[in-house]
Amino acid sequence: MQSFPLKTVVIVGGGTAGWMSATALAVALKGRYTIRLVESDEIGIVGVGEATIPMIQLFNKVAGIDENEFLRQTQGTFKLGIEFVNWGRMGDRYMHGFGKIGQDLWTVRFDQYWQKMHRLGKAKELQDYSITRTAALANKFMPARHDLPNSPLRDIAHAYHFDASLYSRYLSKLAQTRGVQRIEGKIVRVSQREADGHVDAVVLESGARVEGDLFIDCSGFRGLLIEQTLHTGYDDWTHWLPCDRALAVPCESAPKLLPYTRSTARRAGWQWRIPLQHRIGNGHVYCSAHVSDDEAAATLMANLDGKPLGEPRPLKFTTGRRKKAWNRNVVAVGLSSGFLEPLESTSIHMIQSAIQRLIDYFPDEAFSQADVDEYNRQSQQEYERIRDFIILHYKLNQRDDSAFWKECAAMAVPETLTHKIALYASRGRLLRIDNELFSEEAWLQVMQGQNLVPQSYHPLVDVQREDDIAEYLESVRAVIVKCVELMPDHAQYIAQHCAANA
Ligand code: FAD
Repeated sequence: MQSFPLKTVVIVGGGTAGWMSATALAVALKGRYTIRLVESDEIGIVGVGEATIPMIQLFNKVAGIDENEFLRQTQGTFKLGIEFVNWGRMGDRYMHGFGKIGQDLWTVRFDQYWQKMHRLGKAKELQDYSITRTAALANKFMPARHDLPNSPLRDIAHAYHFDASLYSRYLSKLAQTRGVQRIEGKIVRVSQREADGHVDAVVLESGARVEGDLFIDCSGFRGLLIEQTLHTGYDDWTHWLPCDRALAVPCESAPKLLPYTRSTARRAGWQWRIPLQHRIGNGHVYCSAHVSDDEAAATLMANLDGKPLGEPRPLKFTTGRRKKAWNRNVVAVGLSSGFLEPLESTSIHMIQSAIQRLIDYFPDEAFSQADVDEYNRQSQQEYERIRDFIILHYKLNQRDDSAFWKECAAMAVPETLTHKIALYASRGRLLRIDNELFSEEAWLQVMQGQNLVPQSYHPLVDVQREDDIAEYLESVRAVIVKCVELMPDHAQYIAQHCAANA
């Protein structure tokens, strides 16, 4: 079968999704296609989305982005995980850190030996067996040393915090130097082909038509093409994730530059704290059925670690996903494809994986329906697996101080999640379905951190002598402590390698 390549890709929207798409496609399409990006300064961008997960390093690699330069340009800092405060019970604190826990040695996973020894009172806390968590809590940072194969320093996994507006601006410059054409203007009409309903142009307020063969809808929550034009439909997941509003406000920096995000559960939602070089980003995600906007704002403003640098900015959302991320010749990327609250900082990653998926299934003029269907299947699977992980945090709370938390603990959750919780509750077993984003270690940390104690552990743990296990656990921990002692302070590392221009 002959293939007729497309000629022009139009990206609608210049937020994080638009400019990440433009940057990556400029590399992948190697100048053989015209790439145009339309954005409107008048409408602006959502301007939040400042915490990431380690997979963003892959995006940087593919896009040819230098880590230090990118952090300098975006006031960025390093992130080793997320600290969860008050999520199990009031006063609880645990870390979901990136990367490995322990070192596998015998027949079953490291954490199974830990489960046994911890219940016997012969093991320290889970986080003590991970270099990333130990470093985070000691306020230390350095990137992994892949040249040291036998050291835990090889296991450090990191992501970034950055200023969302500076990030879009940085990528915009980069993409334009790679040939992407930026068009400023407000889209007032979308034109469709009569024959098949494919979008063939967007029309700007000036009257100009921007024509294309493939449209990437990065227009944010409004879903200008995917929803307003193609009426694709939306799966609403509010019954599992009832938070529907957020308030965001920056504040002045605190004396210590923490290398992690903090999420503190509030009466009917939670508050984020994202440390950047020049400020701290804060926000309160909440459920409007349980708390008023005024109360939510007051809670946020009363819990900042520095002087506020503005008024809280309101955002509204409906958790869920677009029924098809790819419809006709429109692919929704970013907030136009759906929304999961930022509890595990997954949205930017989902932009990245959508772009990768689009490159994998890049169409020609025929727009193979089989490819489109497979793209949509993978996209749905990704959304649902991440959704389950986020619901887990709510489901496993034991708070009795508000109706919100009690309702979350009592709610029926998706089958897939019920199954995972049951497996862990019985023998501490961890299940990763369909190569899903979050690792066994991630699931372990949240279930353990929120006080779900398995009834027992893997039976084969008992084939190992208890003293041998105790000695092994201790040796892993002791080496981690020594390594972390040698690591530089987070702020010091930044000052040396990637301090932003004032
Ligand atoms: P937007 O930033 O809204 O961009 C939309 C673009 O479309 C803009 O350029 C706009 O001008 C353009 N546009 C729209 N309509 C028109 C029109 N008619 N004509 C021309 N142009 C138009 N993600 C994370 O990974 N980590 C986080 O910590 C995180 N925190 C978040 C906190 C909150 C409260 C929210 C709501 C989201 C958070 N996210 C987070 C998600 C993250 O912000 C988004 O995934 C990311 O910013 C991408 O947004 P976007 O580019 O899809 O949309």
